[in-house]
Amino acid sequence: MGVEIRERVRMMHALRAAFDNERLFVVFQPQIDMITNEAVGAEALLRWKTEDGSFIPPDQFIPIAEYSGLIVDIGEWVLRSACYELVQLHAQGYTNFKMAINVSQAQFSHPLFLQSLERALHDTGAPANFVELEITESMAMTDPELLIKTLHHIKQLGAQISIDDFGTGFSSLSHLQKLNVDKLKIDRAFVNEIGENADEGSIAKMIVQLSQSLNIKVIAEGVETEHQAKTLLSFGCRLAQGYFYARPLTKEDLRTWLIDNEQVMTR
Ligand code: C2E
Ligand code: CA
Ligand code: CA
Repeated sequence: MGVEIRERVRMMHALRAAFDNERLFVVFQPQIDMITNEAVGAEALLRWKTEDGSFIPPDQFIPIAEYSGLIVDIGEWVLRSACYELVQLHAQGYTNFKMAINVSQAQFSHPLFLQSLERALHDTGAPANFVELEITESMAMTDPELLIKTLHHIKQLGAQISIDDFGTGFSSLSHLQKLNVDKLKIDRAFVNEIGENADEGSIAKMIVQLSQSLNIKVIAEGVETEHQAKTLLSFGCRLAQGYFYARPLTKEDLRTWLIDNEQVMTR
């Protein structure tokens, strides 16, 4: 117990120092329209490179950033960095490109969150309707009143909302309908099942059908094989993200990847 707390505190200080010394950076994982094979956007993902050159995975440091409140500053910085990159991509002719940005619970429920979103959009000049905020399904379940209000304001700013890790949080379906979100993101676990079990992704299929009846978009994450891509497409899921298409890329590598794949948006 004591060791665990000490380790957490140590990591918290290290994270603060990394943030101050600009050792955090954002990578971008392309999102593909499986019918046209075009990259229609990317998800911004945070990386931490330590002084000795090794990487600490976000699954380890995001919880610490949340717990310590650091996520508010770090999250705002991610938001601004991703918006800035979106503007650059649009200027280079990728004018249909969208940017998905993860927003954690502590960030989202912070009283200044809406202001920081507005400022990020304003300062970078990012087109709000190409910015998509990913909130997790478990977040969608806590404090529904506040959530509905916040989502409403985000919509007024013009940004989109996507529910991350969908299928893991047991949302009530009537609640989901009230939230008026734009997209569901099928959790990797359900994509992973495709090709493994005889049922061939029955949960993924059900989520696609749910999105169709609610008339919202759907994307699959963690697509690693062609078989998974084809199966998802046969379910009616057109959008995908995963190692089968591309790993998360630095902004330089993203440009090269976009050119190499001739996945050029309408120029
Ligand atoms: P997530 O939002 O579910 O992000 C998707 C994760 O799946 C990423 O891990 C990505 O690299 C990984 N991934 C993508 N394609 C594949 C695939 O085909 N196979 C497998 N096995 N994995 C794939 P990553 O970058 O390590 O991020 C882990 C989590 O950390 C994210 O999960 C998200 O919850 C959190 N995170 C990352 N960046 C941020 C951020 O800027 N803000 C917040 N609040 N959370 C973040
Ligand atoms: Ca995400
Ligand atoms: Ca996810």
